[in-house]
Amino acid sequence: MIDVLLYIAIFLGTVAGMEAVAWVTHKYIMHGWLWSLHKSHHSPYEGGFELNDLFGLFFSVLSIGLMLAGLHVWMPFFFVGLGLVGYGAIYLFMHDILVHHRFGFRVVPRGGYLQRMYQAHRLHHAVADKDGAVSFGFLIAPSIAVLKEQLRMNRARGAKVDEQSVETSHDWTTS
Ligand SMILES: [Zn+2]
Ligand SMILES: [Zn+2]
Repeated sequence: MIDVLLYIAIFLGTVAGMEAVAWVTHKYIMHGWLWSLHKSHHSPYEGGFELNDLFGLFFSVLSIGLMLAGLHVWMPFFFVGLGLVGYGAIYLFMHDILVHHRFGFRVVPRGGYLQRMYQAHRLHHAVADKDGAVSFGFLIAPSIAVLKEQLRMNRARGAKVDEQSVETSHDWTTS
C-alpha cells in the first residue's frame, strides 16, 4: 500500500515538476542556445511538423527510457517516465491543440483558466524573436495584465513586439 501511494506521489510530483522543467527549458534553452530549433515555432505555421517538435520527441524518448529503466532497474523510474507522459499529454492539449489548433481540432475556451492560458501563450507569440518574449510556462502564467506590462517594458528596451498579436490575444477565433 505504501508503495502505491509513493508511486502516485512520484507520478503527480513529476507532472507538476515538469511545468518547471518546461519553463526553464523554454526560457533558457529554446530561447537560448537552441533557438535555431525553436525559431520554427515562432514563424508562421505551415502545417505538418516543425523543427521545434524535436523537443517533444526528446521528451518522448526520455519518458520511454525512464519507463524501461523502471521495469528493468528500479520501479520508481517507471512512474517518473509516466509523469512525463502525463505532462506531455496535457502540454499537447493545452499548447498544440488549444492554442495552435493543430491536428484539425478547434477547442474554444470561452472563459476561465483555459482562456487565460490561451491568451498567455498568444502573448508569448507576440514576440517572434529570441529575446523579449514573455510567458514561458504552459500551465502556469502571470496574469494577462502583468504579461502586457512586461511586453511594454520589453518593447521599451527594443524588443520587436507585434502589436496586432497583443491586440488579438483575447480573440480565440484567430489562429
Ligand atoms: Zn517560445
Ligand atoms: Zn506556441
